[in-house]
Amino acid sequence: MSFSHETKNELSRLMPQKRCCLKAELAALVLFGGVNGLKGKDETDSLAVNTENAATARKVFKLFKALYPVPVKVGAVKKRQFKKNKVYVVKAHPDKNYPQIIRALGLDDDEGQRLERLPERLVRSRCCKRAYLRGAFLARGSVNKPEGEYHLEITCATDDLARDLQKLMEQMRLEAKISERKNSIVLYIKESEQIADFLRIAGASSALLEFENVRVVKSVRNQVNRQVNCETANLGKTVAASMRQSMAISRLIDNVGLQAIPQPFREVAVLRLEHPDYSLRELGSLMNPPLSKSGVAYRMRRLEDMAEKLLGEKS
Ligand SMILES: [Zn+2]
Repeated sequence: MSFSHETKNELSRLMPQKRCCLKAELAALVLFGGVNGLKGKDETDSLAVNTENAATARKVFKLFKALYPVPVKVGAVKKRQFKKNKVYVVKAHPDKNYPQIIRALGLDDDEGQRLERLPERLVRSRCCKRAYLRGAFLARGSVNKPEGEYHLEITCATDDLARDLQKLMEQMRLEAKISERKNSIVLYIKESEQIADFLRIAGASSALLEFENVRVVKSVRNQVNRQVNCETANLGKTVAASMRQSMAISRLIDNVGLQAIPQPFREVAVLRLEHPDYSLRELGSLMNPPLSKSGVAYRMRRLEDMAEKLLGEKS
């Protein structure tokens, strides 16, 4: 089962306590998950929500039943192209109560025209904002498993609706971005901390726990990788410097002989050739008495200077 599906199952089981939140969540489910905006001849007196998640379908049914005493039916159809996935359609038939319910869920304006906008009066309280975000996510949202690329999105029917939802998220300190796809507008979050916040706000405690566990493991692993990369880079620098120094010292010895190198430098030269993988600090610690890193560095530079001068004289 995908992480997205698991998250939706968890959110579907969560029933708000207050009537204001029940209404906000159902309003989001109908607006975001509604079938073709309720247009079409035989759809005029029904409210329909479609979803691929059985638990979400049950939730829509329960929300209708909790709020309005109207007949509600749940049906399932198989998608033709993707035979694996069933689509559940939850349909309420309010008959003469239809205009009232549409109005209550903020789905039309004062003239009775259908609205594809977020109903502000339904999401004034914090509890209702959370319920509305949960409903929108259940209807048309998805979230990647935390092991992969961080991504959470909600598909919106129109640009206006995407902007409305973006504003609502802003009020909850969630920063979502909008991107246009072929036939839809997508509101998405890529930042892991923000996705965790969304899961917490929507009330997906178990999904949040799983998400955070993986996130911690991933972040520690990244930290270790960064450290290893850093150490490897430093090691590369040490090896390159050591090779350069060894070559200079070998040239010096080949040309003038070890005995011709003045004593304070001779010891460093020999130690460098004996321990090509040691850092300057490590070379210094082998000396008697031990020499500081800067002391070794100074002598090493002088040795390289001598070798360079020699090369200059020869050419
Ligand atoms: Zn509420």
